[in-house]
Amino acid sequence: EAHLAAIRCANRALNAYVLETPERALDMAKQSDARLAKGEAGTLEGIPLGIKDLFCTKDVRTTACSHILDRFTPPYESTVTANLWDAGAVMLGKLNNDEFAMGSSNETSFYGEVVNPWRRAGSDAPLVPGGSSGGSSAAVAARLCLGATATDTGGSIRQPAAFTGTVGVKPTYGRCSRWGIVAFASSLDQAGPIARTVRDAAILLGVMASHDPKDATSADLPVPDFEAAVGQGVKGLTIGIPKEYRVEGMAPEIEALWQQGIAWLTEAGATVKDISLPHTKYALPSYYIVAPAEASSNLARYDGVRYGLREPGKDVLSMYENTRESGFGAEVKRRVLIGTYVLSAGYYDAYYLKAQKVRTLIKRDFDQAFENVDAILTPTTPAPAFAAGEKSGDPLEMYLNDIFTVTVNMAGLPGISVPAGLSSEGTPLGLQVIGRPFDEETLFRVGHALE
Ligand code: GLN
Repeated sequence: EAHLAAIRCANRALNAYVLETPERALDMAKQSDARLAKGEAGTLEGIPLGIKDLFCTKDVRTTACSHILDRFTPPYESTVTANLWDAGAVMLGKLNNDEFAMGSSNETSFYGEVVNPWRRAGSDAPLVPGGSSGGSSAAVAARLCLGATATDTGGSIRQPAAFTGTVGVKPTYGRCSRWGIVAFASSLDQAGPIARTVRDAAILLGVMASHDPKDATSADLPVPDFEAAVGQGVKGLTIGIPKEYRVEGMAPEIEALWQQGIAWLTEAGATVKDISLPHTKYALPSYYIVAPAEASSNLARYDGVRYGLREPGKDVLSMYENTRESGFGAEVKRRVLIGTYVLSAGYYDAYYLKAQKVRTLIKRDFDQAFENVDAILTPTTPAPAFAAGEKSGDPLEMYLNDIFTVTVNMAGLPGISVPAGLSSEGTPLGLQVIGRPFDEETLFRVGHALE
């Protein structure tokens, strides 16, 4: 009830929730009370969570924050959310995101932009909460839920966490089932939590993760006790510092934050080592080929026949055209156009195939680095949260925000963003820790040493 009251009070200003489900929440909470009374509590019994509107929730509207799905009510539940409800969690509502998770500022949502609860010192100007999981990050930061689900294709968990002073974990590709999550770029998409602390994030991920025969890419591996890793310290670990992340134009305060993180880890008993990831500079351009290519293919299903919106036309082709013209926003159309272009005959080898080769080289850089280090420390973003509207007119500027996060998705690795300091303007900054495949435990150890 306290969380529902907080949502009633603050959501109009923040626009973090696109759908509030108070009756369902109270009903789920009552069932939790009953289980608690019987001594049958699950891991998350009674914990109120917000769910990114990319996760299908049975009988509850799920839209990916797109007009094309705004009347879609799924008859099934995503595996990740089903795992949460099985553990006793309570759903408060569905959280805003960039349309189809395409964006870095939560300004492309059909339901309007999300406002970051943080402000620059001495200013009332609204800041973006990051994206695409901006509703998740804003809701956790503003205490409108105890934790939230999110998804990360190129940074959409870690960058919003960095912009809002919260913890975000993008697990190894395959750790969480993608079944029932609206697809953006299937070889990059992963679900993960946004929470207030590293411990909370570890507990949430432990429940969200599972092997799922319904997702052929989900890993058939046991889910470790992530929470147990949290207090284990960093003594004996070797942490790599990749020189290629020292990019031109990086804010001096980000460099200072990075040095601070290195000092904290050294004091806590870790060994720090300079490393090289030589193909880093190709990650962003190749991501912006692979992700739109897969998106253009995934979004072909929105044809006005099977899901959501249908705009009539004089024949079936004009019905498709009218539906997609009015159903998709500008950024989604841009991705479909780029994706269709790079996949088309004559361009496929030059763009898509080349990008896939670059992807292998990026993965190989990490494999080599992880022969000598246990984890890698970088800033999460090249700059703190920017003002609403500042980059929305310039897609390239917006894409540059993902420079430190996309490498992790291209290589399928786990990454965590931990709040580690404040900018000169008093807004949050995040540090990112990258780990070996399926070694989220080391991320939680290092992450906890940084928070
Ligand atoms: N900002 C990136 C993009 O727009 C990443 C989005 C995401 O991780 N879902 O593609």
